[in-house]
Amino acid sequence: MTQAVGYAAQHSFSRLKPITFERDDPKAREVDIEILYCGVCHSDIHQVKNEWSNTVYPCMPGHEIVGRVTRIGSAVSRHKVGDMVGVGCMVDSCRACEPCRSHEENYCEGPNSWLATYNGPMMPKAKVLTGTNMYGRDNTYGGYSSSIVAPEDFVLKIPAALKPEVAAPILCAGVTTYSPMKHWGVKSGDHVGIIGFGGLGDMAAKIAVAMGARVTIFTRTKEKLEEARRLGAEGVLESDKEAQGKLKASFDFMLSTIPEKHDLNPFMPMLKRDRTIVVVGALEPLAPVNNQERAMHRTSVAGSIIGSIADTQEVLDFCAKHSIGPDIQVIPIQDINHAYKEVLNGDVRFRYVIDMASLKQEEA
Ligand code: NDP
Ligand code: ZN
Ligand code: ZN
Repeated sequence: MTQAVGYAAQHSFSRLKPITFERDDPKAREVDIEILYCGVCHSDIHQVKNEWSNTVYPCMPGHEIVGRVTRIGSAVSRHKVGDMVGVGCMVDSCRACEPCRSHEENYCEGPNSWLATYNGPMMPKAKVLTGTNMYGRDNTYGGYSSSIVAPEDFVLKIPAALKPEVAAPILCAGVTTYSPMKHWGVKSGDHVGIIGFGGLGDMAAKIAVAMGARVTIFTRTKEKLEEARRLGAEGVLESDKEAQGKLKASFDFMLSTIPEKHDLNPFMPMLKRDRTIVVVGALEPLAPVNNQERAMHRTSVAGSIIGSIADTQEVLDFCAKHSIGPDIQVIPIQDINHAYKEVLNGDVRFRYVIDMASLKQEEA
């Protein structure tokens, strides 16, 4: 066991505060990582506030983790001490089901699905927790902390061309947007629509531009139209019905990153025939979609959850190759509660990343 320190919420209404806790020593195939940076995903806020009704407290979020390997288990072959590595949304899965055997662990059909980096094991009703998980507690603790121990094959290699703080958000925001674009076959020359211009939207747009797509970003925020142009996309206000009318039947693929229940009906007519709008933002029931509109153009609405470990490595390498990454604002962990407010207001440009050196103050 080693002593660790991190920021956690004790209740759905509480601010995040420092706690000390113990991390296990790495087992044979596990690595111990000193965390240098951790991105702040909107999912962290949903989880802390128990908006998915499955939060176990204390809740220590963080699944955009980058750090250095400090110790390795006796059978580790993929990583060595000193390597710059990452941990994303998963730290394990059942490894036996069909999706796991097909390298799509993010669709694991094992009894508890994949093991989330924080608040795992994922269960529909956390109140019926049946025991402790592999890390010996009722729930996993994430990356708002000084260190983490994870199985080597759930640990990603951070390409040297990416700054560690820039790489961090790619581990969730990057792969969550890359994976559906890959799955639905986005290619050069396609017209891609991104709805909601926050942490995921920023990564989605940059990845789509790098894939050679023409990109249009839908935003509620006038000031973000200029930001869209800066990264080589067009911006359209969600309130601008005239501009949207001109985009009828023009998109090959659309991705909604809006973080709550919303209405897809204004967007459906903008899809070309046979095309799909993928909703990654709202993990909850959506407003009903007009099926007549959908039927007349054989369009689809789909969901997608994060991305596999292979896709996560692929998007890290893709970002390094194309010299892209998120726009970030680096903060000390002591600013985390303020940062949450800014994310909820849509004011972050575009991802907060916590500098874990700031945790040293809590250890002192
Ligand atoms: P952010 O808060 O950074 O960005 C969301 C953006 O959506 C905002 O910046 C804002 O952009 C827009 N928005 C916010 N509220 C509304 C609203 N009520 N109506 C319309 N637009 C709105 O969040 P993230 O990008 O970090 O995450 C987005 C969502 O994706 C979250 O719900 C998160 O939990 C989910 N998620 C899902 C994953 C999956 O696997 N499916 C993985 C990771 C995250 P603008 O100013 O442009 O309108
Ligand atoms: Zn996330
Ligand atoms: Zn599985």
